[in-house]
Amino acid sequence: MGALTGKVALVTGGSRGIGRATAERLASEGALVAVHHGRNTGAAEETVNAIRAAGGSAFSLRAELGTAGDVETLWAEFDRLVLEHGPGAGLDILVNNAGISPRAEVEETTREAFDELFEVNVRALFFVTQQGLKRLRDGGRIVNVSSATSRIALPDIIAYSMTKGAVDTFTRTLAKTLGERGVTVNAVAPGIIDTDLNAPWLRGNPDAQQYASGFSALGRVGLPDDVADIVAFLASDAARWVTGQVIDATGGSHL
Ligand code: NAD
Repeated sequence: MGALTGKVALVTGGSRGIGRATAERLASEGALVAVHHGRNTGAAEETVNAIRAAGGSAFSLRAELGTAGDVETLWAEFDRLVLEHGPGAGLDILVNNAGISPRAEVEETTREAFDELFEVNVRALFFVTQQGLKRLRDGGRIVNVSSATSRIALPDIIAYSMTKGAVDTFTRTLAKTLGERGVTVNAVAPGIIDTDLNAPWLRGNPDAQQYASGFSALGRVGLPDDVADIVAFLASDAARWVTGQVIDATGGSHL
């Protein structure tokens, strides 16, 4: 029996990258995992198939965040599918991972890009959580995927970094509200992780690899599993006394 046997988890943006690694990790601990995705249904199905092939349980659901009716669609799909696949209604672990990070310095940032960033990374995360609260069982877990850029200044992703600052504040404040229900709320703040998000500049480029490795005291680029393991810890009973925290997942960057 795994540490999360009998639990139901929802991972937003679970189709690839950090979200996929997290979905697989939570499922390997015994959770039934709802793999949410925006557009790439094929990638979400791949994640579900990989989980099932490893002996776990999962289903996928689609809702494009930042569009009209996004949150309602997500939860309606979750409610329908969890009854079909799971032990009954309700949720134990919410991982808010979906996010976008277009690059632009302050003077290049358009209103449209700024609004889209806040729509997806902040507004959708806020209301997915708000609507999830009535489904989340007491003693549940919320883990938000933030970024080390809320601590480390990277001018070419200034608006993105601001969205993650908002996620950190949301995490700390919501933890105070939900404590009486025994629900913990934490964030994980990754540094540079080798995912599709960074592939265009990072993969197959030795100079970029060296540059990115140089951020970490441990001298390498992070992997999705490095983050997924921390999320799994925060989702487990072992982390019951940790709440309202932003956990650094950068391998010691900019110490
Ligand atoms: P990724 O691009 O590989 O995956 C992003 C996931 O989010 C995908 O599953 C995608 O379907 C989903 N998503 C994106 N926009 C969506 C939308 N509008 N509606 C629904 N789903 C949407 O990214 P990743 O690198 O795995 O990043 C995951 C999270 O980690 C993000 O919140 C990101 O900001 C954060 N993060 C990543 C890094 C990094 O270096 N990769 C560093 C710090 C923080």
